[in-house]
Amino acid sequence: MIRFASLGSGSRGNALLVQAGRTRLLIDCGFGPRVLAQRLARLGVVPEQIDAVLLTHEHSDHVAGVGALAKRFCCPVYLSPGTRRALERRQHAVPHLREFEVSAAFPIQDFQVRPYAVPHDAAEPTQFVLDAEGLSLGILTDAGRVTDAMRKALAGCAGLMLEFNHDATMLANGPYPARLKNRIAGGQGHLDNDTASDLLRQLHRGSLQAVLAAHLSETNNHPAQVAKQLGEVLGDNPVAWQIASQAAGSDWMTLQG
Ligand SMILES: [Zn+2]
Ligand SMILES: [Zn+2]
Repeated sequence: MIRFASLGSGSRGNALLVQAGRTRLLIDCGFGPRVLAQRLARLGVVPEQIDAVLLTHEHSDHVAGVGALAKRFCCPVYLSPGTRRALERRQHAVPHLREFEVSAAFPIQDFQVRPYAVPHDAAEPTQFVLDAEGLSLGILTDAGRVTDAMRKALAGCAGLMLEFNHDATMLANGPYPARLKNRIAGGQGHLDNDTASDLLRQLHRGSLQAVLAAHLSETNNHPAQVAKQLGEVLGDNPVAWQIASQAAGSDWMTLQG
């Protein structure tokens, strides 16, 4: 069994907890020690139980709390070489760093980690497929578009955390300045609801058990709109889905072998 839960998702902070066997991984850590501990407690976990952190990229909504966590609990932090250089350039001190090659899978205890590259306006942005007990959990947020390599990496996953960042019409008609709108909608920005729905339609196979929609914009999206689109793609199939919120994240979702 793999289980996973968001601790909060959006432009003000991200972290995803994933567990298989006795191994607990945190994907990104955008929350400071106090908030992190509170949100882990809701899921019955204490920070000491985190075995490792995987970073997707250096944007502060993904790394703001990682230095404090790694320092306090001596927890290893895995990241791409480009993400490491970007953190160092900003003098964002994080101990216990371990670089991985984006093209190569590597083990962390009960997990096999498969990093894959995504287009996003960061130094070397990377997302992950986590394999354990014959199951795969695919993670994808912070990507401006979907490439064939990304589709290939995510094929066959039993669980998916997918970015549904914005509704294209809401973004276009919304309050953001033109430059920011162009950045978000561009090929190195964030996935809109239609692009995410199309990807989910392509990945929707019998093996799919659970979908977590994530990184919703609080200004340019509505959870109700995302729910409607998830319902349209998943139909009556027995696929569990949730929408991760900024304030509360999500409940546990479970993948069974
Ligand atoms: Zn982000
Ligand atoms: Zn980002």
